[in-house]
Formats: sequence, C-alpha cells, structure tokens
Amino acid sequence: MSTSARVLVVEDELAIQELIGHSLKRAGHTVIFAEDAEQAMKVIKDILPDLLLLDLMLPGINGVELIRILRGVSRTKILPIILLTARSAESDIVSGLEAGADDYITKPFSPRELISRIKAVLRRRAPELVNDIVEIRGLSLDPTTHRVTIDDQNVEVGPTEFRLLHFFMTHPERVYTRLQLLNEVWGDHVFIQDRTVDVHIRRLRKILQVFHKEDILQTVRGSGYRMSINTSH
Ligand code: CA
Repeated sequence: MSTSARVLVVEDELAIQELIGHSLKRAGHTVIFAEDAEQAMKVIKDILPDLLLLDLMLPGINGVELIRILRGVSRTKILPIILLTARSAESDIVSGLEAGADDYITKPFSPRELISRIKAVLRRRAPELVNDIVEIRGLSLDPTTHRVTIDDQNVEVGPTEFRLLHFFMTHPERVYTRLQLLNEVWGDHVFIQDRTVDVHIRRLRKILQVFHKEDILQTVRGSGYRMSINTSH
C-alpha cells in the first residue's frame, strides 16, 4: 500500500529539513519547504498541501500561533497537521494539540516513524490519498490498479469519474457541495463551472443504474451530493 501526498514542511533548521525531505521523497511524497510561519502562509496561499509537518519552535510566529491562524480560515480549517517537537516541550505539545494539530512526533525520530505517522494521519483525515482498496455496497475501487468493479463485474469509468467515485467512497454519508467537490476532486484553484460536477455525477449514476445502485449517489436538495451506505435514505 502506498501513499502519495503533497507535504509542506515548516522547519527553520536546514539539516532537519533535508533529512525530512529525503525520507518523504523516498516514500513517494512531494515536498515543499518553508523556513518560518510567514513563508508557510505564502506557500499555502498558492498551493494547498495535503499535510503540514510543523516545527513548533520557529523564529517569529511560532508553531502554535500558526496552527491557530490556519484553523481560523476555511481554506486550512481541516488541513492535517503533525507537530515536530523536542521531547522536553510537553506543554507546547499540549497547546499545539489544543490549537488543532492532529498528531505530534518528537525529535529525534526515525524516518520510518515519521512516514508511518503521516500515513496514519492521512488515513484518518484524507483517506482518498491512501491507496487502500475501498468497498461499499457491492462497489469496489482499487486506486493502485485503477479498477472499478460493481457486483464483481468490471466497469469502465473515466478519469474524473474515477477520482470522484474514490472521493465519495472514502467519505461516505457526508454531504459535499459542488464547490467542495471541485476543490477536493478537481484540485485547488481550478476555474471551472460548478455545473461540471453535475455532468460527472450524472455519468456515474448512469453506470450505477445498470446495476440498480443509483441510489448510492444521492442529491441533497440545496446542498450537494452524498454517497450513502444505507438504502433507507
Ligand atoms: Ca526550530
């Protein structure tokens, strides 16, 4: 099972940056660096990362303050954040977690530990980035082989429908607006019409219809779309 995420590393010590960067790239991640909070915010404005690895002790705005800033705006409200701390900084770890960090890792850490922490947080917070096979009500999707089956029969789906289906299957029972789906599935800062989402939803439903499973993908009036595990609603 592999994971491939865009990770922003906010760390002022270049030696540690280098070490982390090396481990992450070897694990298949894309790495972006920032040396302080201000630089990190600039990066995030341009490119929304999948995960933030944040050193708590930074010059200028410290890590805890940065978390508070990021959690206060919708763009980064749910961005997965892992703290990097010194073993002695227990009270800082607590403030960091209270400010909204998802996990922490104490220095010095092994590359293996780092990679498995990242995987665990992503599995919890961004399961569509983890290449596990997902199954819901007879639908099965394998991100590694790009195969979709319904009731054990192979189905052909286009690349966008595949990503959309993967996203819904890893986030069942939650309602997503068209705008949220555009951000999550089409990517950050895309300028396409909301209605594009409807077109791809319709294509997915057509495929599901063949298997009498179109009720899996529900329209929630005035809100958006939801994938439902239950037949009842
Ligand atoms: Ca530091």
